[in-house]
Amino acid sequence: MNDCIFCKIARKEISAEIFYESDNFIAFLDANPCSKGHTLIIPKKHFFNLIELPAILGNELLDVIKKVAEMRFKDGAEGFNVIVNNGKEAGQVVMHLHVHVIPRKKGEKAIVRFPCGA
Ligand code: AMP
Ligand code: ZN
Repeated sequence: MNDCIFCKIARKEISAEIFYESDNFIAFLDANPCSKGHTLIIPKKHFFNLIELPAILGNELLDVIKKVAEMRFKDGAEGFNVIVNNGKEAGQVVMHLHVHVIPRKKGEKAIVRFPCGA
């Protein structure tokens, strides 16, 4: 997908704060975070939503989610939300599958609302 912003991030054509990469996924900081450390995990290949993601990539995705969450716990998070918005009506703005990992901490306010800032 030539004009997909997350494909461009996956191809390293535009910059993002990528801090973890596996064979088929990358994790980077959300540009408009709901909380400190809000992370997006995307497949390197373009899939629109979770339904399109081949099941064979499910274990690897779960592994990346857990790795990101563990990193956030090391940084002081006490909990986290995992959210996938599938489709415009569900708040999906970028039409390349992405998993939100949103760290949560007692006393730290997080506004979790999609589309972001709506
Ligand atoms: P969604 O509403 O699930 O489609 O969320 C899209 C997310 O992508 C939002 O949280 C945006 O802040 C985030 N986002 C959009 N463009 C970028 C970008 N270039 N770098 C990092 N995060 C982005
Ligand atoms: Zn894409």
